[in-house]
Amino acid sequence: MVDFHKLFSNNEPILISGPCSAETRDQVVQTALQLKQLNKIHLFRSGIWKPRTKPGMFEGVGSIGLQWLKEAKELTNIPNTVEVATSKHVEEALMHEIDCLWIGARTVANPFSVQALAEALQGVDIPVLIKNPTNPDIELWVGAIERILNAGIKDIVLVHRGFTSYAQTEYRNPPMWQLAIEIKRRFPQFPMLCDPSHIAGKRSLLQGIAQQSIDLNYNGLMIESHIDPENAWSDSAQQITPEKLADLLNNLLWRSGEVNPSLDYSELTELRTRIDQKDDELILLLSERMKIADEIGKFKKNNNITILQTERWNQILERALQKCDALGLSKDFIRNYFESVHLESIFHQNNVMNKNEHQK
Ligand code: PEP
Ligand code: MN
Repeated sequence: MVDFHKLFSNNEPILISGPCSAETRDQVVQTALQLKQLNKIHLFRSGIWKPRTKPGMFEGVGSIGLQWLKEAKELTNIPNTVEVATSKHVEEALMHEIDCLWIGARTVANPFSVQALAEALQGVDIPVLIKNPTNPDIELWVGAIERILNAGIKDIVLVHRGFTSYAQTEYRNPPMWQLAIEIKRRFPQFPMLCDPSHIAGKRSLLQGIAQQSIDLNYNGLMIESHIDPENAWSDSAQQITPEKLADLLNNLLWRSGEVNPSLDYSELTELRTRIDQKDDELILLLSERMKIADEIGKFKKNNNITILQTERWNQILERALQKCDALGLSKDFIRNYFESVHLESIFHQNNVMNKNEHQK
């Protein structure tokens, strides 16, 4: 079994890698052997029971994969971990001497399933990785942690893999870092890993997300790797070869390498992450504001009203200026800001009008 106490007490980042899914014996063994050459992977991961969004998608090879994992471990000496979602999975994984279990995001989102797993784990001494639930609901994550804790599991490791979002973003599962930061605040005793693969959904974003998590003082990474990512049976756009994983890891700037190793930068990074979050919200709000301006443009066009209504503009500005003092904002700043926003609104309305002209 993996000794997480020993692993984490070295203060070395924990690295977990392996394919999203076990597909064939050769793919599992070859991926493990290639990862072995990196000489820095602590745990070999592979899904054999895959929760898929729709029926008919590849749902994992099932129990046969446990034998491939055993073989890979015999060849590499790297301990392994699989995802479990039912008590039967737990039973089978334990029978095949799996070293660590992980609970996936979809399972964590379901308290009935987590409870069933907790009951199957009662009295078992094995480390358990608990991913965040798919929903951006912190209490659901807390609930899963508490259930597994109540089952007597001592070694719990949290894995941040991003959250489902209705809004279209560049990520498959936007990280919403502030939720993970809050969980770290509530459970400082548990190590936290980042899973950039499921946050990103595509290879190009992996490096940046991994770096951000290191800057936030995470304890390690879980990254999917595959000998032939383009032809992977699941999550093919986000997997990388073990060779590319080596490059990614070499390009990371670990915090101990920073200018002043005795200074803890995590607070600064955390604050910057919050600023980024607020800026993202502001941009989104501005975009929504301009869409409303477009609607106003259409109304004015249809009713033959001029774009610039000086009285209305004065009203907007006065309303905002009155709030400045109480909110700790300078009047100059707010005046500049509103002038700029107002100008952009006029451009938008102009565009709407011109578009209508051309369409006629
Ligand atoms: C996985 O790690 O392959 C997986 C299914 O992850 P998640 O539960 O985070 O979607
Ligand atoms: Mn996956």
